Amino acid sequence: MFKVNDNYLKLPGSYLFSTIGKKVREYKAANPDRSVISLGIGDVTQPLAPAIIEALHGAVDEMAAAETFHGYAPDLGYEFLRNAIAKNDYADRGCEIAADEIFVSDGAKCDSGNIQEIFSVDNKIAVCDPVYPVYVDTNVMAGRTGTYDAKTGTWSDVIYMPCTAENGFAPELPKETPDIIYLCFPNNPTGSTITKDQLQMWVDYANKVGAVIIYDAAYEAYISEENVPHSIYECVGARTCAIELKSFSKNAGFTGTRLGYTVIPKDLKSGDVMLHSLWARRHGTKYNGAPYIVQKAGEAVYSPEGKKQLAGQVGYYMNNAKTILTGLKEMGYTVSGGVNAPYIWLKTPAGMTSWEFFDVLLEKANVVGTPGSGFGPSGEGYFRLTAFGTYESTVEALERIRKI
Ligand SMILES: *Cc1c(COP(=O)(O)O)cnc(C)c1O
Repeated sequence: MFKVNDNYLKLPGSYLFSTIGKKVREYKAANPDRSVISLGIGDVTQPLAPAIIEALHGAVDEMAAAETFHGYAPDLGYEFLRNAIAKNDYADRGCEIAADEIFVSDGAKCDSGNIQEIFSVDNKIAVCDPVYPVYVDTNVMAGRTGTYDAKTGTWSDVIYMPCTAENGFAPELPKETPDIIYLCFPNNPTGSTITKDQLQMWVDYANKVGAVIIYDAAYEAYISEENVPHSIYECVGARTCAIELKSFSKNAGFTGTRLGYTVIPKDLKSGDVMLHSLWARRHGTKYNGAPYIVQKAGEAVYSPEGKKQLAGQVGYYMNNAKTILTGLKEMGYTVSGGVNAPYIWLKTPAGMTSWEFFDVLLEKANVVGTPGSGFGPSGEGYFRLTAFGTYESTVEALERIRKI
């Protein structure tokens, strides 16, 4: 008789956004006359930029003729895209990453979930708290996290690194030594980031203790301040300890188009085994490549027109972030983030829990946000708003919050 992977049964409750979706649907059903504004889920709203649309149309036409038709893509991704990435995201920033160290994929969520497969089940992971839920949940599915304590909302075999107002939402080196360290900067959900010196400290630490850093740079395009690293490979020694994940979702609006990549330097080894070889083996076995059409669209992200148009799009969202940040400050809220990331992290007022504030915001302002506690125990008492709405709905949402 078949048995299920019972690690799945250890996963607590439903996924955060399903719970939010259900609450919002129920509210709308009970109040059909109200218009609800969502500043909740981290999904973009601006259409694909003209340079990307043009590349997509061109690639579709190529697929219509036998001479220019494309079937299966190469395992690592098309060279035209990997070369564009290597040049623009790495060489131009002084980072030493070769095109054949880049693995093109259909997004950073899959990669961040799948990457744990190439590590021993005995490895211990360390995560920031609060954290993007994918890192922990995929390790639960693999049986790497021990037992769940519903009271504290933590796993026995996971090292949590609290990111709170006290440490400026930047993790401190853990007391217990981890094998795998997940870092995401600029951060989802807190919108915080760390300086190059701070990231260098993590790289030095990982090299010292023999840990690997899985660095999620999905929000790199939102960095506006100097001295914030755009890639972990800006740090000395990162080639021997760091994997970097990137996505086209937040910088170029590819959430529905799907494109991302993972960088594994060939110097990153366990003994004499290159992680690059293992990931190449996995990629070749389980993945058949991002569509040619989408990789052509990805190439357009790096064209001069593409870059200009996307800077405008990021600027549009960051203007929303500024609107939310300054608006909430005026109202007396304690807020952070929103400067190098499209997320605003606010302290819930009057000692409300995250979910209590969610209900107040939904019912009194008809605005949807994300409860901080959904991202980990240290997120309790916090709340996330995103800058991914339209400018008009963002302004309207703030007007409504002002009237609570
Ligand atoms: C949105 C997001 C991603 C990107 O996911 P895709 O699968 O590329 O759309 C990755 N990491 C974090 C932390 C994110 O918020």
